[in-house]
Amino acid sequence: MNKLNTKMFQMSFTNLVKQPKEVITQFMNSFDIVLTDCDGVLWLAEEPIEGSAEVINTLKELGKRVFFVTNNSCKIRDDFVKKAKKMNFKCEKDDIISTAYLAAKYLKSKGFQKKVYVVGAKALSQELELVGIKSIGVGPDAVQTSFKNTLEEFKADPDIGAVIVGDDEHFSYVKMFKAATYLSNPDVLFVGTNSDEQDPNRYDYIVPGTGTIIIAVKTAAQREPFIVGKPEAYIADFIKNEYGMDPKRTLMIGDRCNTDILLGTRCGFQTMLVLSGITTFKEATQRKQSKKQEEKDLVPDVYLEKLGDLLAYMN
Ligand SMILES: [Mg+2]
Repeated sequence: MNKLNTKMFQMSFTNLVKQPKEVITQFMNSFDIVLTDCDGVLWLAEEPIEGSAEVINTLKELGKRVFFVTNNSCKIRDDFVKKAKKMNFKCEKDDIISTAYLAAKYLKSKGFQKKVYVVGAKALSQELELVGIKSIGVGPDAVQTSFKNTLEEFKADPDIGAVIVGDDEHFSYVKMFKAATYLSNPDVLFVGTNSDEQDPNRYDYIVPGTGTIIIAVKTAAQREPFIVGKPEAYIADFIKNEYGMDPKRTLMIGDRCNTDILLGTRCGFQTMLVLSGITTFKEATQRKQSKKQEEKDLVPDVYLEKLGDLLAYMN
């Protein structure tokens, strides 16, 4: 999908709720489909962000099609529905577009008939199973006695036709070795869920994101993966094919410029940043002032302190 320059509003990091009422109303009427990121927009880990459920539910009542779009590959869609409902979001399974689900649908769309070696969470193997694809690899797999013994004992499964790499708390040298070995066959497909460098956490720790695992595997394999998550456009192509979508009448809401907003820019969506998550006001301001196009692509059309601020303008 190419970047389109046909947006209805030519705004750049504009505080939406500081605009005249008619501009806000025009903006609200300018989209039919909403893609919203989850963590940092709707909730922070297990805590709902005040007002987000009311805004999402009102958007649905107004007839907007809302998709919950997440790079998290550690949950199946049913788990997301449960989590969203617990926080009072009106949400059905078909509203959830997660990367474990997308990876499974991607292989299915290719007519994939073989088995997958998964570097990732159980959710990945469960989503594959739901589309009828078998997999191996989930769970701990570390050196037992010595790596030399691991090499001697390893028997490659001849049925493996794809390697999917997602978030994996059990990621190990052994898994990297097995993934790269399978990928030495050029017919084996290489799919990654997302490239996030770090994952949000409630502590002041650095939690490595899926991107770090993918870089390790691709460095060993000397191959590039097909990434299904944000900011890659596959997610938008998927929604377009499954449900239909006019990019110009689509709004992307996110808290992270280098995934959420970049996806929106690449696909020609309108973009809204909320400051309740990763990207700060200062970072977004610096990007707006930058002369580099790659920085400008990360600048949202509009922003809000938090999604709930919209509620007062939705009647
Ligand atoms: Mg987020």
